Amino acid sequence: MELFPNASRPSKVGDPNWFTGKVWQDPILAAPAPSRNRSIRERYELGARTAWHSHPLGQTVYIVAGIGLIGTRDAPPQILRPGDTVWIPPGQEHWHGATLGSTLDHISIRETETGFATTWMGHVSDEEYQITPD
Ligand code: MN
Repeated sequence: MELFPNASRPSKVGDPNWFTGKVWQDPILAAPAPSRNRSIRERYELGARTAWHSHPLGQTVYIVAGIGLIGTRDAPPQILRPGDTVWIPPGQEHWHGATLGSTLDHISIRETETGFATTWMGHVSDEEYQITPD
């Protein structure tokens, strides 16, 4: 087994090509083969969010703290609260992030396909982000 003590792997800031605003990324697991698990914790500042993207084998998002949003192409963004779990199926285009009034802390669990866990697209515009959820 392998134990990774807390803070033994430094936090990184999300690539501005794929995120709007500051997102702190803490690795949980990039498991060796045959596992393809890729899990990270991400903490978003107010208003920060991913770009549009999809995951070849899907994604589980678990909300740890704060209030978040998740948006898809075919519906207004939905609110995410601590303890919520979201399953995003393979290939579904979406984004996730904090609200304007709260940070967001979530755990992301994915699997790689041919080495990749995410396919990135364009940034989420302010208009797409600021649609008021029901
Ligand atoms: Mn995602």
